[in-house]
Amino acid sequence: MSIQAVRGMKDVWPEEARKWQRVEALARQVFHAFGFGEIKTPVLEKTELFARSIGEATDIVEKEMYTFADRSGDSLTMRPEATAGLVRAYIESKNYAQPGPHKLFLIGPMFRHERPQKGRLRQFHQIDVEVLGDEEPQGDAEIILMLDQFLKKLGLGKVIIKLNSLGCPACRPGYRQALLDFLGSRRGRLCEDCRRRLDTNPLRVLDCKAESCQEAAQGAPNMADHLCEACQSHFAKVRQLIGAAGVDYELDPRLVRGLDYYIRTTFEAVAGDLGAQNAVAGGGRYDGLIEALGGPAQGGIGFAFGLERLSLLLPDEETPLAPELYIAALGEEARDWSFSAAAQLRGQGVWVELSPQDKSLKAQLRRANKLNAAQVLIIGPEEIKAGRGQLKDMAGGGQEEIPLDQVAARFAPPSP
Ligand code: AMP
Repeated sequence: MSIQAVRGMKDVWPEEARKWQRVEALARQVFHAFGFGEIKTPVLEKTELFARSIGEATDIVEKEMYTFADRSGDSLTMRPEATAGLVRAYIESKNYAQPGPHKLFLIGPMFRHERPQKGRLRQFHQIDVEVLGDEEPQGDAEIILMLDQFLKKLGLGKVIIKLNSLGCPACRPGYRQALLDFLGSRRGRLCEDCRRRLDTNPLRVLDCKAESCQEAAQGAPNMADHLCEACQSHFAKVRQLIGAAGVDYELDPRLVRGLDYYIRTTFEAVAGDLGAQNAVAGGGRYDGLIEALGGPAQGGIGFAFGLERLSLLLPDEETPLAPELYIAALGEEARDWSFSAAAQLRGQGVWVELSPQDKSLKAQLRRANKLNAAQVLIIGPEEIKAGRGQLKDMAGGGQEEIPLDQVAARFAPPSP
């Protein structure tokens, strides 16, 4: 039996990759204007990094990580998300000693052993954005505005930024207790995971997708009513700044997110028609994480979005990938000429295809057609002798004679 790809991991073929390239190019362009630089960190990190940053009691760490002992016996994990590795790099490089904020983005694969379904894979790709060394509400507003600008420029019609504040270590314990008091009497109506979450991370019950849990959480107390003064004014400033900048946002008291280290501002970009997996991007503030991983007490905020999920929302590229010129050559001499002509044209950036073997003209034209080539140059022994070939316009159907020494110039890119 032939070998198949690992479950939940998929191949990305050129048509799809083109969409990703468009998304990545736009991201680089938008992020540039906000002063972000690109960073690459390793896919493998020490397991402990994720246990300490994401939190032992999260779904990701408990059941979704690809973890193994390498040949030296060290426990390594294929990164399930980018923030932890990025913060590790920030601390390790001591870049925190330079004046901040430090604005970074990372594009790459992430790995989670989840149950695969549409829009949910075991290897998926994220564009991840982080601002390190900053605690100001302006930082939150800037990053949300950047996400909004990016999604708008991408042309995703229906996108809403959902916004919540998770409070801070001063006010969240009070809220946690109020929530526990409320959910405690409804324990029996919660799913198995959520019954466990009551002990470990009760806020997660709020964003459980199970219907019974959503019903049980109806009327639960809101974090917004429990925010301390500092969190309240931080949140108010963020809303004022993004509102003034024209971001369409909705307050969502149920927005909790999976990772333990989020505090204060948390947000998600939601697109209308993706079913249960409707979040295209999510992020939030995680002051305290840098310190927890051995760095200074500096704040951080970030978001990430999945390329696969975004690409489900994007239309296919309109212009198909097609060669600009196909050279149909008959006979060895003509084939040799076409090889060196193609070398020159390709050097000019022109996509040229050659016929793979000495096939009949009919077969070559069929292939040119299949590839959707814009033009075909037909040459044989006679044409080589005369120094002239037949150039056929495949869309219009016209044909003209062209001196072979003028072919390169004909396809030269327009001078700037
Ligand atoms: P998270 O790190 O869970 O906040 O996810 C951030 C974004 O990554 C989500 O909004 C999705 O676009 C994407 N994402 C997360 N998990 C998966 C997955 N298993 N498969 C595909 N995309 C994912």
